[in-house]
Amino acid sequence: MCGISGVVGFENISKSLLDSIRNLEYRGYDSCGVAILDDGCITIKKNIGQVDEVNEKERLTDLEGRAGIAHTRWATHGGVTRENSHPHASCRGDFAVVHNGIISNYHTLKAGLKREGHQFLSDTDTEVIAHLLEKYYSSTGDVEDAFIKSINILEGTYAIAMISVYEPEKIFCAKNESPLILGIGNDVNYIGSDFNAFIDYTKNTVVLDDKEYAIISKENYIVKDNIRGERVDKEITKIEWDAEMAKKGGYPHYMLKEIYEQPQSIINALNVDRKIIKKVASLIMDSDRTYLLGVGTTYYVSLLGEYYFSSYAGSHLSAISSDEFKNLAEVTDKTLVIAISQSGETYDSINALKYAKANKARTVSIVNVIGSSIARMVDLSIMQGSGPEICVISTKAAISQMIILISIALELGNMRKKITKKEKKRLEKELIKLPTIIQNILNEKSGFVNNIAQRYSGIKNWLYLGRGVYYPIALESALKMKEVAYIHAEGMPGGFLKHGTIALIDEDLYTVGFIPPREEKDLYPLIMGSIEEVKARNGFVMGFHFGDKEKDYKLFDEEIILPKVDKVIAPFLQLILGQLLAYFAAISLKRNIDRPRSLAKSVTVA
Ligand code: GLU
Repeated sequence: MCGISGVVGFENISKSLLDSIRNLEYRGYDSCGVAILDDGCITIKKNIGQVDEVNEKERLTDLEGRAGIAHTRWATHGGVTRENSHPHASCRGDFAVVHNGIISNYHTLKAGLKREGHQFLSDTDTEVIAHLLEKYYSSTGDVEDAFIKSINILEGTYAIAMISVYEPEKIFCAKNESPLILGIGNDVNYIGSDFNAFIDYTKNTVVLDDKEYAIISKENYIVKDNIRGERVDKEITKIEWDAEMAKKGGYPHYMLKEIYEQPQSIINALNVDRKIIKKVASLIMDSDRTYLLGVGTTYYVSLLGEYYFSSYAGSHLSAISSDEFKNLAEVTDKTLVIAISQSGETYDSINALKYAKANKARTVSIVNVIGSSIARMVDLSIMQGSGPEICVISTKAAISQMIILISIALELGNMRKKITKKEKKRLEKELIKLPTIIQNILNEKSGFVNNIAQRYSGIKNWLYLGRGVYYPIALESALKMKEVAYIHAEGMPGGFLKHGTIALIDEDLYTVGFIPPREEKDLYPLIMGSIEEVKARNGFVMGFHFGDKEKDYKLFDEEIILPKVDKVIAPFLQLILGQLLAYFAAISLKRNIDRPRSLAKSVTVA
């Protein structure tokens, strides 16, 4: 994970470097630092803490210079200490580097470099890169040559940026499996892990591919191939998101802002080009088997998709957590893999896709970030258009992915004659109502959910019970509670409860029941049965339900009643309650909402 950036220009660049790591902070935030080149000398300032804290301690913006690199870290190798924070320098301080990823052969490299007399100051894998540069430079006296030699000896994953006193007007950067893009400005050029690094300054970007490196100066950029050193022509892509979209806009946290942006992100998901939706449905028709791939929230998105494909298209698609894909999947040239990822950089999903491609599978992705690795590695990519999602906890991106999967399921259902054209139209009309219904719930229920969250935020253990499609909703809601409030919540199918977990139920274990509308005749009586089982053992139950008035409701110790809606959209209303409950519980416990401990936005490491 972690964010890297670099700026080279005519003006002093320390302010834009600081802005860049502030904007990338959601990728990692245990420590940060900058290295700036001025007057033939590199100065590094770094420390542990979030960007604003470190800036206060170290006065990062006091540095003067026209080329610099910066980093905000999510430690993988070496603890969270000042020494381990980036940038790292070579022994003589003539090279400084920042890195995102893991150098898997760093032990061997470090041992060799130590034998040759290099002195290491940190426990990171990254520091070997600075020493390799120094070593190769001392034999050739050529910075570019030393850079190529160094990156070609590295194994593992990296996005690297480097400055050197021997080429004071340039930044060298390279990538392999970790994201890296260039920002092209006027008399100033940028690099970044993603375009949040320079979105305030330019919208023109060049996306690097694996095994490519680039050299940027204030007026120019060159991209080359690592192996042959030959120039690669790259197109400039214009970023459509604007800087304002990535700001908090009056909300106390990005999480709340993004929860409130869900009506719009659903509209955008419903507006995805029908031709692409149809194309994916036909691909599923033509394949022997389709896998839905995701990890964390996107795995739950896939699981929800699995239920919708089964209900509306009569097709069983297998949802697999990307990290387990190789252990489970059977892949041939008649297999279709649909990978779902907000950032498009999720390491586990990239790995699973590579495996699928190596076995000749057809590949599709649903991603939010244009030009991301996953978007570029698949045969067909659906851009979900949710706009920037900054909070580490996914909300609006996940709901959009769910809507896109449902659109494909309805299309497939119609192709497979499981639903008529008329029924498909009716269901699509219901989906169109969803943004307004969610807007109303946000307006009308937030205060109430906030009160409930405050009342129960001291409860340490929760069981989230659902049946059918409400089961992935329960899982995803429980994940929100764990991620942002650090409260243990376990999602489970109602029917599973009696096979073991019921032994835990007493007055200390609290349950949330995700109750479907009564029209769901196969689900409603069963989940109510599970709730009875909890109540019979003195368990507390909070019900999220649709107001189907009957005697059963005395079962609930607490309830949040939702408006009656069609069953195709009903689960989403409960998803919103799950998000709000987690958010307000986290507020009441004073958690770090947008940057929960130990998490990072795009998990780009194994
Ligand atoms: N492996 C490097 C470190 O631990 C970079 C970490 C990352 O990319 O998240 O410092």
